Amino acid sequence: MKSLKHLFERNAKWADEIKKENPEFFSELSLQQEPNYLWIGCSDSRVPANQIVNLPPGEVFVHRNIANVVVHTDLNALSVIQFAVEVLQVEHIIVCGHYGCGGIKAALDNKQHGLIDNWLRHIKDVYRFHKDELSKLSEPNKIDRLCELNVIEQVQNVCNSTIVQNRWADGGKLWVHGWIYSIKNGVLKDLDCTFSS
Ligand SMILES: [Zn+2]
Repeated sequence: MKSLKHLFERNAKWADEIKKENPEFFSELSLQQEPNYLWIGCSDSRVPANQIVNLPPGEVFVHRNIANVVVHTDLNALSVIQFAVEVLQVEHIIVCGHYGCGGIKAALDNKQHGLIDNWLRHIKDVYRFHKDELSKLSEPNKIDRLCELNVIEQVQNVCNSTIVQNRWADGGKLWVHGWIYSIKNGVLKDLDCTFSS
């Protein structure tokens, strides 16, 4: 079995470059993390959280899954949100989707994809909530609009979690944002669904 030697070489080069700019970068960062942002995004390899907002390691706490879904029974996502809000005290939670999302496309195509179909049920629910609007749109527009509506829906799910509700009830500062990213031009768009209470 190959040991993916080229990835270790790339890692060594990357670490060297950072240390050239700031010799203390890793030693300082190793003491603690103080990110101010929790990023909830899609697992898609073309949507890497830190690179999109051009922030170095230590600045963004990240949770990614297929189609950036926040489900109230998902212990993984809820644990990430709890840790980010209660321990790291982040002030911003960003749900970021992207146009052309494969998870959204798969949820719309009425074919079986195996286990993942159970996950995609959550997106089919979003479709059902907005069927009147979506059924009038042609295929590419329908997918892109569902990508946006899915973000807005997941923002609501984050806001309705007990973790965020409790934070707000305690008077804590916390903003929940919904953004969408274009893999065609690398640009982020704010979907104007930010909540702070
Ligand atoms: Zn995606």
